[in-house]
Amino acid sequence: MPVDKIACHCCDLIQEVTELQPGFKAHCSRCGHLLTAKTEHALDKAAAFAASALLFLLLSLPFPFMAFQSQGREQEISLLQSAYDLFDLGFPFLALILSLFILLIPALMLSAYLAVLLPLKMGRCYPWMYTITRGLFTLHPWGMAEVFLIGVLVSLVKIAGMADLVIGMSFWAYVLFSICLTATITSMDKLQLWHTLDSYSGNIRQQPQISSGSALDNGFQSCHHCHLLHRHEEIHCQRCGSKLHPRIPDSMQKTWAYLITAIVLYIPANTYPIMNTTLLGADDPSTILGGVVLLWQHGSYPIATVVFVASILVPIAKMLSILWLAYSVQAEHQHRLEERTWIYRMTELVGRWSMIDVFVVAVLVSLVQIGDIVSIQPGIAATAFAGVVILTMLSAHSFDPRLIWDNLNPQEMDAVNQGTEPLNDLLDKIR
Ligand SMILES: [Zn+2]
Ligand SMILES: [Zn+2]
Repeated sequence: MPVDKIACHCCDLIQEVTELQPGFKAHCSRCGHLLTAKTEHALDKAAAFAASALLFLLLSLPFPFMAFQSQGREQEISLLQSAYDLFDLGFPFLALILSLFILLIPALMLSAYLAVLLPLKMGRCYPWMYTITRGLFTLHPWGMAEVFLIGVLVSLVKIAGMADLVIGMSFWAYVLFSICLTATITSMDKLQLWHTLDSYSGNIRQQPQISSGSALDNGFQSCHHCHLLHRHEEIHCQRCGSKLHPRIPDSMQKTWAYLITAIVLYIPANTYPIMNTTLLGADDPSTILGGVVLLWQHGSYPIATVVFVASILVPIAKMLSILWLAYSVQAEHQHRLEERTWIYRMTELVGRWSMIDVFVVAVLVSLVQIGDIVSIQPGIAATAFAGVVILTMLSAHSFDPRLIWDNLNPQEMDAVNQGTEPLNDLLDKIR
């Protein structure tokens, strides 16, 4: 890859990216978005981490994950069993969230990584690997292994005083799986993987004869999946085969629809109990905020802060941010472009972490079921809150950040472009 022309995913500015040295990354010269990064021996590292992650994920299934002992009785759970128990107890939505986000999607991601990386390591590239790579990056935001682990940690603190807890072998296997999955994702950059596929299959992509301005103004559109530039009249991406659009179709309508539904659901998510603990026949329902207050009163200050930030601060900040972004695009604001793009990136990055409290409920409900001694049931707020998190994530995914920059009039566009530094000056050393 001597020089590659790409349009920034966040602001649509056309830029030339020269071949990176391992350890370097390239940022957009206008909005600062990370365009690509290169890791040394990326293919070897990503393949090794993906294989290890899949092995640890399989090892985390058959053994006990955690056990809960109270008054001589014990409840032991495994990951598969807890999803099944939730379904059996009449909570199919929580069972679906647990099995999908912490097991099925990560397993699919790892299988896709291996299906692409192993043939590449043997110097082979087949056309179907392009389709798999496209699917792989679509799944990325929905894999929530590390969020689940924080949820497990919070669950342990919440019931630590109630009974004895035993950590099983599957728990440690899941921790190792989560670390290896994160290492796989960070080793292999998205754009670098697309370039590796092209170089192994011998595909040389034509570079358009443009070097400034936005792709849209130059009559080009960037593939949403692999970022290859195409002329406006082209319908399907030559590299990954996906349908091309200059901007996300109906971006604003979808963003508003998901956002308004999330705001409406946020009311029952906070006013109704998220779970109900029955201890020796006495009910003790607790809301999200009530749970935070209880953790604080028991002296678990760091955990209380984590839950407060993830369950209360982040969802509110996220909904307000999307509200402001959507409003400012429709009101055609021409100021604070970089700040608004940064807020969009943060909104996308932190959204999934709000799922912590939903995982806490799922773990506690499947773990704490000891007949009439003690049991935990999920409240209506757990479903509503999971809905809020998923809807705000969909709302952020539907928002096209390039619309922020489309409002810029030509004079201001020139001023912004003149103020930018050449991209090569902005290459940062990772270490
Ligand atoms: Zn940019
Ligand atoms: Zn493509």
